[in-house]
Order: sequence, then structure tokens, then C-alpha cells
Amino acid sequence: MKASIVEELRRGFTVRDIEIAAPLGREVLVDVKASGLCHSDHSIATMGLGYEFPIVLGHELAGVVSAVGPDVTDICVGDHVVASLLQFCGTCVNCLSGKTYRCLRTEATLRGEGEPPRLGTEAKPIAQMNGLGGFAQQALVHENQLAVVPEEMPFAPAALLGCGVLTGAGAVLHTADVQIGETVVIIGAGGVGMNGVSGARIAGAATIIVVDVHDAKLERARAFGATHTINSATVDPVAEVLRITGHGADYVFDFVGISSVTRQALEMLAKGGGLYLVGLGANDARLEIDNVTMLTKQIHVHGVWMGSSNLKRDIPLYAALYLQGRMNLDDLVSKEISLHEINEGYEALADSSSARLVITDLS
Ligand SMILES: [Zn+2]
Ligand SMILES: [Zn+2]
Repeated sequence: MKASIVEELRRGFTVRDIEIAAPLGREVLVDVKASGLCHSDHSIATMGLGYEFPIVLGHELAGVVSAVGPDVTDICVGDHVVASLLQFCGTCVNCLSGKTYRCLRTEATLRGEGEPPRLGTEAKPIAQMNGLGGFAQQALVHENQLAVVPEEMPFAPAALLGCGVLTGAGAVLHTADVQIGETVVIIGAGGVGMNGVSGARIAGAATIIVVDVHDAKLERARAFGATHTINSATVDPVAEVLRITGHGADYVFDFVGISSVTRQALEMLAKGGGLYLVGLGANDARLEIDNVTMLTKQIHVHGVWMGSSNLKRDIPLYAALYLQGRMNLDDLVSKEISLHEINEGYEALADSSSARLVITDLS
């Protein structure tokens, strides 16, 4: 099968034919129909981040099941599935408590030492990003990393469900558990932030304020459900949030993750409010808080991982909301491209107006 491979760090993506194994145990072979370009694939291709090379990146994929291993229980040949980079074992104490996003044995979805590689040959194995490898015609994935979606769900928006949607909407709906009538600020109007807006709208938040530095993105945020927008390049966002809300926001979600922005996010909080750290724009981002402020304002700070999502519950839920017209995913897909256009795709993503590119031509 054809795959777009990163042979070495900073060498870009190259399409070539590689071997893919037959499914063992609880593995599922998926014919990939759509695969999203996420910034984190690009970060791995250019910075390594501890991954092995050569590697097939791509972790936002949707497709059709073409074969299943002998121990697969929940998924059948022909099912339409969406994959997620959320790995969980299903048997550790956190998984058994329903908190699969805090799994203690995430490697359970990968092949172990001594087993043949899923991709490449034993002499020349090819790594698979987080057990997925979506930039390819097929992907061999553990069933715990797949959720079944209705056949009416189009593949391109479906592909986005397993990463950006779980993270953005989940941060609001699950990590923070925003209630009807509350006040939400979303900082960063990229694709993941827009899913945060969708989450806030679904939760029934009364005021949804979106902060960004690009007017085009802020305009799009209104289409997703923002009630107010602030361009922080021209207006002091802290003063503006305090003016709109009167006493600060109940929840502030930082989808940017650089120290100066996180500082502003903290200053926007109402008494008893919560700051949710979702984005990581800089590896050295820091937040300093004095204890007096923490105590007197009774605020809390929460790190968010994959929106505290349960992918088996949430991916089908978001697909259903999309099919009912209650969740906007179409406006997240800015362009559909081919497997051969990943390098150009990432160049286009550097342009701030692009939301998400999705590979739908895998020939
Ligand atoms: Zn992603
Ligand atoms: Zn577990």
C-alpha cells in the first residue's frame, strides 16, 4: 500500500509503497478514506519530539474496516470508523473508573517487544504515530482507538472528530462541565478553539467570548456561536472581558499556550472561576500565581488532556450532533487534498486563514 513517510527529521513527506501486516489479536485494518493534517504531525516531522523515524504520521483518520483480528469484539468488516490518538488499555484502575484519558498503560494498544512491526519489515520497521499512521491508504489500529460512526457521516468532517473535536468540545463539556447560563472565554480561534465554541453552545453557555488577533478568524467564530469577539491586537482583552461580563468569566480556555496569553487568561476570571490550559504554543510557557489571589478569588487552574474524553462515547455523540445540524464541522475543513500534497498542505496551514486540510484522495 502507499503511505506518505517521513524518512528522517526535517526531510518532509515522501509517498512510497510499504508493507502493512495482517491484523493480530484486537487489531483492525482500516481502508483510510480521509486523513486530517494537524499541527502536531508537522511538529514531529520537524522537531522529532521523541518519535522514531522513519514514521508514518497522521492521527486524524476516518475510513472503512476491511479486516479484523480474531479477538476484536465491537467492530465488524464494513463498519465506518474514526480513529483517535487517545490510547487506553481498558483494564487499569483509571480506565475501570471511566477515566480512559488517564490510562496508566497506554502502550496496550501497540504491538509489544518481539512481535513483528505493523508497518515495514522486521529488518526495516516503520514507526506508526501513536498506533495510527493515517497518512496512508490503510492503517492497522487497536480496536480501543476506534469508534464506529453512522454510514451517513461524511469522511472528511468525521476525520476531525478524533483529535481537535474531542479536545476542544471535550474541554468545555467534560473537563470543565460548563453549565447552562454560564460565561465562557475561548482564547485562540483556530480549529480546536472553534470546537470549544461549539461545546460552549451545546452546553448552553449564555456568553461565549472569543479572543484572537485575526479578524477573519473572529468572524468565523461568530458563525460557530460566539456571542462576542475581541481582537487582542487592538483592544486590551482583559479589560474588555471584564466590561462585557461585569465581574469576569466563569471559565477561560487557553487554546494558545504562551506565557503572556495565559497570564491574561488568569486575569479574566470571575471569583470562583476556572482557567483551563489546552494549547501549548511554546514549550517553555509558564504561569505564576500568587497564593493570595488563588485564595481570595477561589480560582482553579486545570490542565486539559484530550478534553477528558471517552472516545467510544464521544465520537459517535459528536457525529450524531453533526448529522442533526447541531455541531458545525464543515466550516473546519478548508480544503481537501491528495496524499501527495502533504508538504504543500503544511505550507498552506502556516497561513492563518486555513482551518484544516483533509486528505481525501488516497490514490
Ligand atoms: Zn491532532
Ligand atoms: Zn488503562
